[in-house]
Amino acid sequence: MRIAIVGAGAAAVGVLDALAVSGAEAGEVTVFEPSPHLWRGRPYGPDLDSVLVNAPPAIMSIRHADFGHYASWLGPERAEAHLDDLLGQPLVPRALYGEYLVDTAEAALAELRERGWRTRVVAARVVAAARSGRGCRLRTEDGHEHAADQVMVCVGGGTPTDHYGLGGAPGFVGDPYPLADTLDRVPGGAGVAVIGSGLTAVDAVVSLAARGHDGRIALVSRSGMLPHVWQRPLGYRPRRLTAERVEAGAVTLDGLAALLRAELDDAGEDFAHFTRELLAAGTEQPVERLRRQLAAVGDPSIGRRVLQESAHTIGPYAWRLLPEPDRERLRRHFRLATSVASPMVPVNAAILLRLFDSGQLTVVSSARKIEAGFLVRADGGDLKADVVVNAVNPPPQSVPHAAEPLVTSLLADGLATMHPSGGLVPADPRLHVVGDLAGGGPFITSGIPGVAARAAGALRTALSSGS
Ligand SMILES: Cc1cc2nc3c(=O)[nH]c(=O)nc-3n(C[C@H](O)[C@H](O)[C@H](O)COP(=O)(O)OP(=O)(O)OC[C@H]3O[C@@H](n4cnc5c(N)ncnc54)[C@H](O)[C@@H]3O)c2cc1C
Repeated sequence: MRIAIVGAGAAAVGVLDALAVSGAEAGEVTVFEPSPHLWRGRPYGPDLDSVLVNAPPAIMSIRHADFGHYASWLGPERAEAHLDDLLGQPLVPRALYGEYLVDTAEAALAELRERGWRTRVVAARVVAAARSGRGCRLRTEDGHEHAADQVMVCVGGGTPTDHYGLGGAPGFVGDPYPLADTLDRVPGGAGVAVIGSGLTAVDAVVSLAARGHDGRIALVSRSGMLPHVWQRPLGYRPRRLTAERVEAGAVTLDGLAALLRAELDDAGEDFAHFTRELLAAGTEQPVERLRRQLAAVGDPSIGRRVLQESAHTIGPYAWRLLPEPDRERLRRHFRLATSVASPMVPVNAAILLRLFDSGQLTVVSSARKIEAGFLVRADGGDLKADVVVNAVNPPPQSVPHAAEPLVTSLLADGLATMHPSGGLVPADPRLHVVGDLAGGGPFITSGIPGVAARAAGALRTALSSGS
């Protein structure tokens, strides 16, 4: 079998690793990637040490269902060197996690070659794919054609959207990564407006602080809602809100809420209080909420931990089964859901709080527009800035710019269709989509466990359709 993998980020590593451990009969695998930073994708390339992974090792394993794979690569010494005291877990720079992806991909390729597979990495962007006989033909930007039987589309998500039309304005940073390059151009005393208040905005603020920035920094966003703060893992396993229970009953939002309520009841926690506290994120003063959350890192309540974990474990499966009106209800809470499902690490929360308390950092919510120059127009008053950093990520299922011609050709050839809520859905057994572009997937961005699960599932399907 000839397998083509388009894109070489975490999703591609998950596919290759699953192929290496599958024991499949020898064939040919070709990976296409234009970036010089193979296997790292957008998030895990070389960058500042202040740019950290945002989850503990148990949920950063790219080998599906082997939760210890990344932790054993990290080893006790590196784990100790990167221990986050507040979380009680190692949190490494994302560039170091990128080394894990590189090592995993290279080990998989070596294992495959040992078993007789031909492996190739083509340093080019794929711009088209179409059916050809019983297989497919892919075309790269340089005009070369490549044949494959199964095509895995692993092209990642989009880059930040320029909501305020500031592209090209002097002092505007359209895409913040790598922060090592973009922040290098920011003078130490400049007034900086960071658009957004999610994890990318937190990365930008923390990295400015790490570089000794002493100018004013404002987080400019419509909602002003910050990510929640990670709580120390307790090793608690849900007994009610489980995949088995979800499989057993009709899946509705009320049904899932009832399972969570039962989970909390068992633990002696008040469900009504829990939901009130969550929904208060929309109205509570963000700095005070951050302060309370930081103080609650070691709080033994299970509620938020169970909800956060379930969003990534049961969430993707349940999402596909939910009736559309329930999905719509959830989409209305996109900001809150994202902030709970993808919290910030306590070490970053502590830095943010210090900057808020010193008055260097502020939140500007209800921003209406930003004029070149720069002037932020917000309901609470205007704000001047020398530099604007765009830290707004596009929603999942956005088509990345680099993959637009490829997606257009897949649709034209009938290999794929667009899902009504966004994202790409295979319409032919020769095509598979892994990562945030996969249509019908959850409305929140996948973490590594979701990417790894989807990679292993897609590989299984590819091997069975191609045999
Ligand atoms: C900034 C950021 C930080 C994150 N941090 C974490 C974290 O700490 N923990 C966690 O669990 N999750 C995190 N995530 C979520 C998740 O881990 C990542 O989104 C994950 O890297 C997704 O992998 P991917 O392979 O789908 O996409 P990507 O990593 O984006 O890789 C896609 C690759 O495809 C290539 N490509 C695109 N178009 C083409 C084409 N036409 N032809 C050939 N190649 C192409 C790109 O160059 C890129 O290398 C983060 C996400 C982001 C955006």
